[in-house]
Amino acid sequence: MPVVAGIDLGGTAINYTIATLDEKFLIEGLCEHPARSVEGPAVCLSQIEEGLALAVNKAGVQLQDIVAVGLDTPGPASATGVLSAEGSTNFVHAAWSGFDIRQGLQEKLGLPVTYLNDGNAGALWGHCVLFGTGGTQTSISAIIGTGLGGGVIVGGNVVKGRMGFGGELGHVLIPYQSIPGIEGMVPRCNCGRLGDLEALCSLTAITQTILPYFLAKYPGHTLAQLPASDAAKRVRGMAERGDAMCRDIFRVQARALGLFFDEMINTFDPDALIIGGGALETGKEFQDWFIAEARAGMPEQRAEQAGIPIHVMPNGDTAGARGAAIEALRTVRGKNS
Ligand SMILES: [Zn+2]
Repeated sequence: MPVVAGIDLGGTAINYTIATLDEKFLIEGLCEHPARSVEGPAVCLSQIEEGLALAVNKAGVQLQDIVAVGLDTPGPASATGVLSAEGSTNFVHAAWSGFDIRQGLQEKLGLPVTYLNDGNAGALWGHCVLFGTGGTQTSISAIIGTGLGGGVIVGGNVVKGRMGFGGELGHVLIPYQSIPGIEGMVPRCNCGRLGDLEALCSLTAITQTILPYFLAKYPGHTLAQLPASDAAKRVRGMAERGDAMCRDIFRVQARALGLFFDEMINTFDPDALIIGGGALETGKEFQDWFIAEARAGMPEQRAEQAGIPIHVMPNGDTAGARGAAIEALRTVRGKNS
């Protein structure tokens, strides 16, 4: 039975999925293998190959059934999978500098390999859940994790951009000063920008900016006793349970996202807006509250656009691998330009 593999190479783990050519996913949840990317390309590519054998076994197919592989990794990388010469948080080993990871994996496996950055892969998955792989709609996905990733799908195609930086949504500036209740906050992103989306809507934003800001407003809060990074990870759970300060923190994130979505609505007039990532791996009630807050943060829309739906991305933790697999499927079908 011919299949494609989706391989999501993360900082510490590789996640695999296997799909049939009629888009049936043969692995339900996560299928992980340690990444070992800190040890450089040779070790990491061997790890990917080793884990792939385990994944096909789990899916009940054979290695020789694989006709194409879709790979996604964190950036920065070119549209064709050449990692940045300046290195990055996920690829610190010197041998990764300027490494063509798509070509490297293609040679290692002897199979055609397609490439997307992880945000674009997740966005493609979210888009295809709503519209199918053949849809020609337009969607914007914001994936809230450690950073803020995502992607733009226009007419069914991933906007990769000239140099591979298409859909770097986290570093789009937003008019954050209009968010109520954050007077004096200085949301500085690691990229250096003041007030981009990632600086207000990411786990890093909570750790570095929003949590310290609100701890000063809520003296004696239990999270004040923990180191910032530990405390930040507890904010989502406490917000879901109704803690007032943690709700304030998530309200700021939702309002920031609303401002960003308004920019996207005016730029693309999309069919759908999609929110993914760990921030909304919660119950439906909290998801609905967050979406309502995001809408409340948007300036008033034209009547024609007021109904643009906001969805939560399903299967969030497998979105990268599944999106990568869909990109490979498209190549098999010759749909990619
Ligand atoms: Zn930034």
